[in-house]
Amino acid sequence: MPDARPRPSRFRLPRDVRPTEYDLHLEPDLDAGRFSGEVRITMRLDRARAAVTLHAADLKIERAAAEVGGREVPARTSLQRADETVTLRFARPLPAGEAIVRLRFAGALNQHLRGFYAAQAGGRRFAFTQCEAADARRVLPCFDEPAFKARFQVAVTIASEHAAVSNGPVEREESAGGRGGKRIVRFARTPPLSTYLLALAVGPLEASPIRQAGPTPIRIWHVPGKGQLVDFGLEAAAEALRRLEDYFGIPYPYGKLDLVAVPDFEAGAMENAGAVFFRETLLLLDPATASLSERKRAAEVIAHELAHMWYGDLVTMAWWDDLWLNEAFATWMAYRVVDDWRPEWRLWQGFEHDRGGALALDALASTHPIYATVRSVAEATENFDAITYEKGAAVVRMIEHYLGPELFRDGVRLYMRRHRDGNTVAADLWRALEEASGRQVTRVAHAWITQAGFPLVTLGPVPGKGAKMLRVRQERFFADPRVPAARRRARWPLPLVVKWGAEDGPSVERFLVDKASAEVTLPAAARLAWYFGNAEAGGFYRVLHDPADRAALLANLADTLSAVERLALAGDQWALVRAGRATIDGFLDVADALGDETDYDVLDGLGGALGVIDEQIVEPGSPLQERFRRWLAGRFGQQLERLGWHAAADEDDATRLRRAALVRLVGGIAEAPDVLSAARKRLEGYLADRSALDPNLADPVVALAARTGDEALYERYRQVVAAATTPQERRRFLLHLASFRTPATLKRTLKAIGTPEIPTQDVAFILMRLLSNPPVREEAWRFMKRRWTALRRRVPPLMISRLVEATPALYAPRYAREVRDFFRAHPVLEATRAVKQALEMFRLNAELRRRATPDLAGWLAGPGTGGARATR
Ligand SMILES: [Zn+2]
Repeated sequence: MPDARPRPSRFRLPRDVRPTEYDLHLEPDLDAGRFSGEVRITMRLDRARAAVTLHAADLKIERAAAEVGGREVPARTSLQRADETVTLRFARPLPAGEAIVRLRFAGALNQHLRGFYAAQAGGRRFAFTQCEAADARRVLPCFDEPAFKARFQVAVTIASEHAAVSNGPVEREESAGGRGGKRIVRFARTPPLSTYLLALAVGPLEASPIRQAGPTPIRIWHVPGKGQLVDFGLEAAAEALRRLEDYFGIPYPYGKLDLVAVPDFEAGAMENAGAVFFRETLLLLDPATASLSERKRAAEVIAHELAHMWYGDLVTMAWWDDLWLNEAFATWMAYRVVDDWRPEWRLWQGFEHDRGGALALDALASTHPIYATVRSVAEATENFDAITYEKGAAVVRMIEHYLGPELFRDGVRLYMRRHRDGNTVAADLWRALEEASGRQVTRVAHAWITQAGFPLVTLGPVPGKGAKMLRVRQERFFADPRVPAARRRARWPLPLVVKWGAEDGPSVERFLVDKASAEVTLPAAARLAWYFGNAEAGGFYRVLHDPADRAALLANLADTLSAVERLALAGDQWALVRAGRATIDGFLDVADALGDETDYDVLDGLGGALGVIDEQIVEPGSPLQERFRRWLAGRFGQQLERLGWHAAADEDDATRLRRAALVRLVGGIAEAPDVLSAARKRLEGYLADRSALDPNLADPVVALAARTGDEALYERYRQVVAAATTPQERRRFLLHLASFRTPATLKRTLKAIGTPEIPTQDVAFILMRLLSNPPVREEAWRFMKRRWTALRRRVPPLMISRLVEATPALYAPRYAREVRDFFRAHPVLEATRAVKQALEMFRLNAELRRRATPDLAGWLAGPGTGGARATR
């Protein structure tokens, strides 16, 4: 783990030395926590060179030499720690042309989930690699930049009872000879790969039976005892692979496909070519006890990683500034693939939650464009965020809508064929899409990729022109009302899709609006009854409807808008409140109008905003909070009462998910006492018999019971964690240790954070939950500050950023100052932007509180529905 350095190294390797092949042999010693290795690198030199520099970090280089004309040329080595490089100076210059360099090296299997690292499960030891973004240099000395693609021929010496998985299929195995029964596993040579895609897993791993997908054998690898949890993952992978081959028009390129469930892992999953690594929760599951959202998420992540086999692995961005090319596309593709496999899951409707998250982040002044200049590894790491993934995916989706799915796919196929095994920049994709479609793509795409933020689209009637003609205005949307008008002046080539209704059913009309202000005409024959400015929520923008037009929409929501559109409408309305462009009454009117809403995604979306009101606007424990919660429980509690807690055997998924969403609203936010005590009772039944509760209710019930739980219940949660038979159950009870609220339970959780009881991969998630748990959050923050050095050493940088982003939950403005001062004194390079964003959120929350509290109080006590609001 690098120390927080004030200035990151911006060193890049020169282009005139290029590797073509690595012949790598590694020998990990799992018991001693070390490894040694030898690599023979074939490279091309454009000119004669006396010295060659390549990447190496945390490695001891024991020997280095070149081979020239069958003779050995020894080399002296010097490490540049700040640049994470090693320079080899040869006794005489290497001639231009092909050169071969041999290095012998050694390192420690680290505890930080990066490079080549140690992991434990069930008392057994394992070693795994995780090389993205720039940690292959911790596994071997190499040219660790994505544009240096080379073939890998990997061999590994392992204990006789262990297994090894790498990118290529196993070619042969042989005895290591005389060394305690060890054997050498040799893997087939790979196609050209970037170093960040190198993979190796070693230990007592077990493999599932092979699932054949066309010519491709698929296996799932896991720690012992989990063989009963592989069927879902194998099926999801086979279904995804078939659809991806069809979409790209290129057969799966890496021969075999191994999916490895890693017991301690930084990211969700990693697209190593031919050997994809996952968190256990995202690959191993029991369909009978997993919730639908757990199954959806696993299927989506599996499809995402497999999309990378083409998009990312076969065709790779030239540098990290185009990371979004990989991630936006794979994110979008995964939704497409799973939606095709399981249309009843309504994946694109669920995407609205992700789009909402990206819009919220992108509304901050401290956001960044999808395309961001990357000068250092730290900056590359920072870019793994919602802008790169979800905004990127939304923009890809918008361009697909604009071109139509067939022409878009033709362009993608052309791009894949043209750049196979190579590296690309964004312009290569736009060019291929333009050639395939004959339409202007570069101009539209370029604006969306390079401009930070997104438009607020204001729609209203043109005076005197009747309702059919609409005035469209665009400006940049900021969550901060204080941003001056001059900074808001911006425009995009805006693909505007308006849904509207007259006497007959709804219609959709498409426009491309280039100007800051324009007029568009809807082809309504009769009187226009209503319109909505973002059909199917397909565009990455917010809409401000004219108040009278919005009222017309609200009057008949269920007949006019689809669920995803209702979700988008509520999301827009809430964002406008946050930004000071609408008062909170307007949002509460929308929420109130949705009290009988039956779609679970809409209810969950509302829950996001209502949760913020409860956590950030109303004072904890105040009479206003009590009134707000009473309204909420009254408005949504009736539905829950009608549904009851018991799911009939033949009940559909939509109803089950609606019940879970209502429990979260009425129990989770409003904390209605009857729902809390019902949850506690349900928990007892669930602990005695896992089939006693619908799996979709497991998470809210475990969470709610923890809130009122004592030390005895806490101890039972710990026992469930220790004995859990599925990764989902383990995760559920482990993370909700942080939902308990007593000082004694908090003390135990904080103590456990320093021990293996909480794996490294879960430390940040536990802390994030503690920070958003009001009775214990301040103590959790003090703990973080006190133990920062140890946390920083253990938790990978990507997760440090997430932790920083969670700090605004601390609520009180004085914590904004503490957070600012603390990270000034303890800078984390990879979290520089996250700190800025957290401080902006702190300030915006405080301003929102000041602005919205009187309106909220007025609305809750208001006339008409008002006084009654508190009781109904
Ligand atoms: Zn990805």
